[in-house]
Amino acid sequence: MRIGRILSVIVVAATLMTSSASAQAVKHIILFIGDGMSIAQVSAAEVFSRAMAGKEPGFTKLGFTQFPAQGLTTTYDSSSIITDSASAGTAMATGHKTLSGVINMDPGKTVKYKTIAEYAKDLGWKIGVVTTVSLDHATPAAFYAKVPSRGDMYDIAVQLGQSGFDYFGGGGLAQPKGKKGEQPDALELARQKGYKVVDRPEAFRALKPAAGLKLIAINQTLQDSSAMPYEIDRQPEDLALTDYVAKGIELLFNPKGFFFAVESGKIDWACHANDAAASIGDTLAFDRAIAKAVEFQKKYPKDTLIVVTGDHETGGMSIGFAGTKYTTSFDRISLQKGSYVAFDSRVLNPYKDGRTAADADFNVMIPAIKEWFGIEHAALEKSDQELLQRSFLRSMKGEVERAVQESVYLLYRGYEPFTVTLTHLANQAAGVGWTTYSHTGVPVPTYALGIGQRQFDGYYDNTDIFRKLAALMGIKVAVAAAN
Ligand SMILES: [Zn+2]
Repeated sequence: MRIGRILSVIVVAATLMTSSASAQAVKHIILFIGDGMSIAQVSAAEVFSRAMAGKEPGFTKLGFTQFPAQGLTTTYDSSSIITDSASAGTAMATGHKTLSGVINMDPGKTVKYKTIAEYAKDLGWKIGVVTTVSLDHATPAAFYAKVPSRGDMYDIAVQLGQSGFDYFGGGGLAQPKGKKGEQPDALELARQKGYKVVDRPEAFRALKPAAGLKLIAINQTLQDSSAMPYEIDRQPEDLALTDYVAKGIELLFNPKGFFFAVESGKIDWACHANDAAASIGDTLAFDRAIAKAVEFQKKYPKDTLIVVTGDHETGGMSIGFAGTKYTTSFDRISLQKGSYVAFDSRVLNPYKDGRTAADADFNVMIPAIKEWFGIEHAALEKSDQELLQRSFLRSMKGEVERAVQESVYLLYRGYEPFTVTLTHLANQAAGVGWTTYSHTGVPVPTYALGIGQRQFDGYYDNTDIFRKLAALMGIKVAVAAAN
């Protein structure tokens, strides 16, 4: 009994010493969030990389999956096992669970929560937020905005300009002048608050750290809903996520410290559309961007922490499909020439333009589906040929697949039945299965490298990510642990 007490005192003292030592030491935190990225998305990228190297079946590990600390993170929100990006972002940024669709407010939508980035700003740190989707989207917004609905994208954009954060980069704004385009331009409001807005690669590359610089860097090419293009669609002259991360670290680095949140948002969008090639391309690009942070961590190992996680799984992606049983052919994924968005904009939409379903000729699409997805029409099962023809007619009639429930469907748009059928057939041939166009409730993996990394071992909740970061930063906050 006595020895037990003495031991527990020693353990408590040791814990306090470790945490206070860490609290003093950490001053660069880079939090990477792969939207919609759980173990299937990560593993698919690894299996694909191995298949491309022409080796025996296996996994070519990504950089971040070799981080020394690894955990599993639950993602449920206050009303559902299946979260959305708003409640998941709120959980990680503030330690509070809330309803799907709500950003940094309680489920009653009256109480506002302070975010980890705002606490970091109070410490005198510089703050950066980068995303491949629009800057006013739910995940980036979770670090600087407080709104009852993620659909209030104009309010989010206005709060971006009021945040005082130092660096925003990646996508543009989805509703810079409001839903009806009648409000004052949110970018102009940000300029009035002292932000410099840059949207050309040359100007971006030329930027150097400067006292008082507040920057909004918008990608030259915006593909869909003001987002950066998918990596597999990116043109060589366009900036990649890697560029936004490298520049962010360069601009944010300062003697006091920085907090930098980086989202790869289109892993999620690709998985909503059940497009494995687009998801894998963005996951690999995410890994390359994380490698820039690792280079920085190697230079400043004593005070840098990198955490990589997902906010939830999307698509119910799996390695394995009923029709291909115990086999996979991930090399087939490389036969896909562009994302579903690129196929729509470059092949399907131009064909639909000015034509009705009555004028539609499916045969015209046969060479296009071979060129874009590597699908040999003649080699398909008869049932799949019929499925494809029916989906083509549905697209010609202007029908769309509803991705999620009607109320938020506009956030993800509808999918072309023909294109979704093509990605399904291409993915199934590779041995990739999907169960939904929405999110799922499976936990996500979390990886950490650097000072305090061991805090991220184990099995914990997404709200604990806030608590762990706050503890390492020496921030005193009382947020009850999730049960
Ligand atoms: Zn998400």
